[in-house]
Amino acid sequence: MKLNNLKDPQQIVDFATAVKTGLGNNQGLFFPAEIPILSNIDALLSMPTSDRNFDVLRPFVRDNINDEALKSIIGKTFSFSSPLVPVHDQTHCLELFHGPTLAFKDFGARFMANCLQHFATQQAVKGEKTTILTATSGDTGAAVAHAFHGLKNIDVVILFPKGKISALQQKMFTTLADNIRTVAVDGTFDDCQKLVKQCFDDADLVKTVGLNSANSINVSRLFAQVCYYFDALAQLSPAQRSRSVFAVPSGNFGNLCAGIIAKTMGLPIKRFVASTNLNDTVPRYLEDGVWSPNATVETLSNAMDVSKPNNWPRIEYMIESGQFDRDLLSGLAVDEHTTARTLKQLYQLGYISEPHAAVAYQGLHDSLTPEEVGIFLGTAHPAKFKSTVEELLNIELPLPEAIADCAEKVDLSIYMEADFQRLKQFLMIN
Ligand SMILES: *Cc1c(COP(=O)(O)O)cnc(C)c1O
Repeated sequence: MKLNNLKDPQQIVDFATAVKTGLGNNQGLFFPAEIPILSNIDALLSMPTSDRNFDVLRPFVRDNINDEALKSIIGKTFSFSSPLVPVHDQTHCLELFHGPTLAFKDFGARFMANCLQHFATQQAVKGEKTTILTATSGDTGAAVAHAFHGLKNIDVVILFPKGKISALQQKMFTTLADNIRTVAVDGTFDDCQKLVKQCFDDADLVKTVGLNSANSINVSRLFAQVCYYFDALAQLSPAQRSRSVFAVPSGNFGNLCAGIIAKTMGLPIKRFVASTNLNDTVPRYLEDGVWSPNATVETLSNAMDVSKPNNWPRIEYMIESGQFDRDLLSGLAVDEHTTARTLKQLYQLGYISEPHAAVAYQGLHDSLTPEEVGIFLGTAHPAKFKSTVEELLNIELPLPEAIADCAEKVDLSIYMEADFQRLKQFLMIN
């Protein structure tokens, strides 16, 4: 399967190239020209998860990864479950936070890291370096850092907006050392993303350090995420599947993009709700057709504090190429008060959640009809947002082991102004 650069029709690449380069010419995103369509979805949904993941991923990667290797990559990537937990009536949470860093980003980061490792070995590029450069608004950092930690010949540099993510979240990626370096940037997440893009525009830098992006721009992450939409429907009864509505808490819109890919492949999802916080560029766009990002604002669901979502062009492409019907997507922006209130309502229903999933849940609450089955994505473990959740719910949350361990360690991040030349120097020096 070939992938197109959405900004440069001349650039058509294979999966390996797309994964290794991250971004294409002119900062264009790579994306399949045509999403493969799978037959016999019912049979697929009754298979064991790893066999199903193999069938879902194979069409995307088979030109570069043989079946044997893909099975091994799948085994290493999907080593934890994604249970569909009933919350009330016709509503379920798809819990995507049972991986090593307790967030859904583990799926994409681990698949990408394992694919990259495979290509490095296959090419036997002796001594040639790969540098992963990524910006995080929260969970990407931890997921990427843990997925790559200890891999040979791969350096990882993670930028994050100083003071804008929770202390515990920060410790989950700034304390690892070895091949993981972290930079606290004086600015917003959008500033961090801009720096990353500037680096990829610098041909000299890209070549010297072997730059590779690992944030939600990298197309491999999306393919891995497609798998859990299949897994969700496999956990519903056959009669419920075609009535399913997914509410996706969205920041950079990678998660929603993966859901739309799954639907395009033939998964009988009925429709999607794109739930955002006050950073509501997409809900406003879906409403009036005008793309007008505002300045990024800080919210309770800070991993979604993104006003220029970098995956949106992929969704737009699927709509414009007629592969996805735009009418099956609605948007909802949830304000801070409503997020807090929803989190409390979920608690009263007996379900302890966190602000991102609460934003998603609200998207169902507002629009679900009695014959529909709602699924909201649980993107992070509540303990990752411990102080917010404890304060709003007036409870005490125990720290899961994965977090408790790193909370004790020293933060090794360095401080940097949002300045491209400084960052370039820092990358070149190593
Ligand atoms: C990254 C993140 C999101 C947003 O996901 P996108 O794919 O960027 O839209 C939502 N919730 C949590 C907890 C996240 O870390």
